[in-house]
Amino acid sequence: MVDIVLLGAPGAGKGTQAQILQKRFGYRQISTGDLLRRHRADGTALGKDAEGYMQRGELVPDDLIIKMVEGELGGGQAVLFDGFPRTVAQAEALDAFLDASGRGKPLAVYFNIARALLEDRLLGRWTNPRNGRVYNEKYDPPKTLGIDDEDGGPLVQRDDDKPGTIAKRLDVFEAQTMPLVQYYAHAGRLDEIDAAAPVDAVAHQLLHALDLEHAHGS
Ligand code: ADP
Ligand code: AMP
Repeated sequence: MVDIVLLGAPGAGKGTQAQILQKRFGYRQISTGDLLRRHRADGTALGKDAEGYMQRGELVPDDLIIKMVEGELGGGQAVLFDGFPRTVAQAEALDAFLDASGRGKPLAVYFNIARALLEDRLLGRWTNPRNGRVYNEKYDPPKTLGIDDEDGGPLVQRDDDKPGTIAKRLDVFEAQTMPLVQYYAHAGRLDEIDAAAPVDAVAHQLLHALDLEHAHGS
């Protein structure tokens, strides 16, 4: 299986789909947002450097992100990149790194969705910080609000999922990350799906785009 870049705005459903693909096909999910939040919780130097950018809804500088991701790569498992790359410089660094390590360049899937739908999704998001599982109080609620169905532990709402910061993050996505759609399209490595559809329908489109419909999953 080839490495995959899940490309889309905050709230487009990348993490939700990564969880599904990870469970079914054994991909490894690398979410740079989750990694950074773990660094902050652990109080590392990187966590401290990243904190202000994240609270303001800005991107963490490319050099810090690229170093962090390179430190995570290795091993034979195919990777789902979730929330990375977010700039052309990050995409170029990823291509160069994967090429040099003999894995070949990744395929990108663009989660196309209107901006108007995203604030509502993000305001209702609850996540399990222990395993990255994602819920929505409106669209995909847990059995008990604030509690994970699987491990029974607490769900949390992110401190950047609030109106002003959401607007900033969506502006940043349009200005800095949307150019990656062209980047991957020019390279002939882009598929696009309708991310406004319900979770199961998005998953179905994704399997089709990745040619996994007949692959052996669990
Ligand atoms: P991203 O990782 O792209 O930021 P998430 O996967 O965290 O997005 O999803 C954002 C929110 O939207 C979550 O609350 C999630 O439960 C919900 N969500 C994800 N996919 C869908 C969908 N297809 N329809 C409705 N809500 C969705
Ligand atoms: P996410 O969990 O993907 O929504 O990311 C949360 C925040 O982490 C973003 O608003 C950025 O501040 C930071 N971040 C995550 N991934 C990246 C990245 N690839 N490049 C720069 N900043 C990132």
